[in-house]
Amino acid sequence: MSSNGNTKHVKLLVLGSGPTGYSAALYAARAELQPVVLTGMQLGGQAALTYTIENYPGFPDGVGGAQLGELFQKQAEHFGAVTEFASANAVDLSQRPFRVESDSGDYLADSLIVGTGASPNHLDIPGEMELTGRGVSYCATCDGWFFKDKKVVVVGGGDSALEEGLFITRYASSVTVIHRRNEFRASPILQHRAKEHPKVNFILDTVVTDVIGNNKLEAVKLKNVKTGEETIYETDGLFIFIGHTPNTEMFKGQLDMNDLGYININEKMETNVRGVFAAGEAADPHFRQVVTSAGMGAAAAIQATRFLEAESG
Ligand SMILES: Cc1cc2nc3c(=O)[nH]c(=O)nc-3n(C[C@H](O)[C@H](O)[C@H](O)COP(=O)(O)OP(=O)(O)OC[C@H]3O[C@@H](n4cnc5c(N)ncnc54)[C@H](O)[C@@H]3O)c2cc1C
Repeated sequence: MSSNGNTKHVKLLVLGSGPTGYSAALYAARAELQPVVLTGMQLGGQAALTYTIENYPGFPDGVGGAQLGELFQKQAEHFGAVTEFASANAVDLSQRPFRVESDSGDYLADSLIVGTGASPNHLDIPGEMELTGRGVSYCATCDGWFFKDKKVVVVGGGDSALEEGLFITRYASSVTVIHRRNEFRASPILQHRAKEHPKVNFILDTVVTDVIGNNKLEAVKLKNVKTGEETIYETDGLFIFIGHTPNTEMFKGQLDMNDLGYININEKMETNVRGVFAAGEAADPHFRQVVTSAGMGAAAAIQATRFLEAESG
């Protein structure tokens, strides 16, 4: 790791500004650790990408994803958390204080909470990258509006696919959900809403194999996984919701993780490196919710506080 000469020493550095990061920062700030939060590229995390969140307790009428992110940030900052609009680019966890290289300078941190979350998976098929932003999207809240009165295809079978597909019906003339199985993983309430919606239809047992268009999406090639039959399906939009990969590449070789890249933690959010804690979607392949991520972030901060107190006293 190189140093850019602008090194700040902090008691606790939090990586990530999603539900995990700001919950951790809230608890750490109230414990007077003056935490610094590095936001990464997505302020508010994935939650800020969704139009509405109906399952975060305390909001009986739901809350906007971006609005909830702002509230998390405001509450943490109210107690003294500091937000830095920067990403961590490299870490050295071989000795304490830990060194973190970021866009806004280097940090020496007595303790670290990793809340770097996850990023959407790609289909990795021909045409996908070339037409991203030209009809292909991973964010309905960001791009749904561009598909007013247009035909849209949504790929996926989980909560995100159906929730975001339903959101796109506000704009699109039709939403076709393409799923590689004939059963959905999504919660029953979302399945019910999608099946009842007049604009939503389904193509099951089918995968998208090609994204077709000249500078702009025109169609997708579909393949029925049971019969092998291939068809061209015309569409203006392709929204892909097929899961996520944890943003943990930077920690490989330093923090223990599973085969999928989720950081291994114990019930106290401790990693294999003393003083480094991980929480939320970076360390959780099981639940992946705002409420569980926020809870894990809080637990990590409580444990980091105990860790630092034990050392000083
Ligand atoms: C479309 C969609 C809809 C969803 N709807 C719901 C819902 O209705 N209810 C629900 O409970 N959950 C929902 N979820 C899931 C929920 O958003 C996530 O479980 C939650 O946001 C995870 O929180 P997190 O803080 O662990 O990670 P994330 O939200 O992924 O945040 C990660 C943070 O880390 C930052 N980061 C990444 N790399 C770096 C780096 N190198 N340096 C510094 N920072 C970095 C990012 O900028 C981001 O701020 C939805 C997710 C999606 C994608």
